[in-house]
Amino acid sequence: MIPAVEVLSAEKTYPNGTRALMPVNLTVQAGEFVTLLGPSGCGKSTLLKMVAGLLQPSDGRLLLWRKPVEQLQATGRALSFVFQEATLMPWARVQANVRLPLDLAGMPRSEADARVAAALQLVGLEKFADNLPRELSGGMQMRVSIARGLVTQPTLLLMDEPFGALDEITRNRLDSDLLGLWGAQQLTVLFVTHSIHEAVYLSNRVVVMAARPGRVVEEVVIDEPYPRGPDFRVSTAFSQYAKRLQDSLLRASGGTEEALA
Ligand code: ADP
Ligand code: MG
Repeated sequence: MIPAVEVLSAEKTYPNGTRALMPVNLTVQAGEFVTLLGPSGCGKSTLLKMVAGLLQPSDGRLLLWRKPVEQLQATGRALSFVFQEATLMPWARVQANVRLPLDLAGMPRSEADARVAAALQLVGLEKFADNLPRELSGGMQMRVSIARGLVTQPTLLLMDEPFGALDEITRNRLDSDLLGLWGAQQLTVLFVTHSIHEAVYLSNRVVVMAARPGRVVEEVVIDEPYPRGPDFRVSTAFSQYAKRLQDSLLRASGGTEEALA
């Protein structure tokens, strides 16, 4: 099986001179759930945007299924990017928001509607197709955003702190729903968070990053079986992994608390 993502010595210096990312090497295998964990400003979003082809590296290469990012279409696969904000069109009903990528691609309405219905079902919002975003809770709006990401049937899902604005209970529920989707849809997920607990709960592998300059400091494999239920969150193994990641973040920041802020 060929890897879904290969980051080959990719680095980024912004035009204003900010060294956002030192050379990074990272491979994500098809079907893996990999999380980028690190403090604010360590280059997580920069790395994710380069993987998505939204941002050019200053040097190095990014391959998706062994092809340069620009040639993604030639692989016959698609990726979706889910941002921290749900960024829904406030005037449009849930189904129209989810249908947007298909409308943009010019898909016939009947085909698109079937896809939208399926995507809404995946996130448990089939009863809310005709609602407006403001009629939904923050967690439900995020589900709409995820449905919009899934409606194009991507094989790779890039998620940049998707649940960062939600309360902890809602976030935990969405984390667990996301694992369900990941397993059922055979997705490859590259996920960004600054929450140690979220990283441990979700991931096959956690890539620990540090700031000033942004860089990868360590990779930690979370060698625990799926499905991971609520019990995993309160298990000894869970706290051991959390401690290990916390130590790694602390070491990377020179022992100051800023990495955990
Ligand atoms: P993270 O997502 O981990 O918080 P970012 O990738 O957003 O980190 O940012 C990494 C560094 O690059 C930060 O110092 C940030 O201020 C800087 N940065 C991000 N975007 C730009 C930009 N468009 N121009 C200049 N500097 C940027
Ligand atoms: Mg960011």
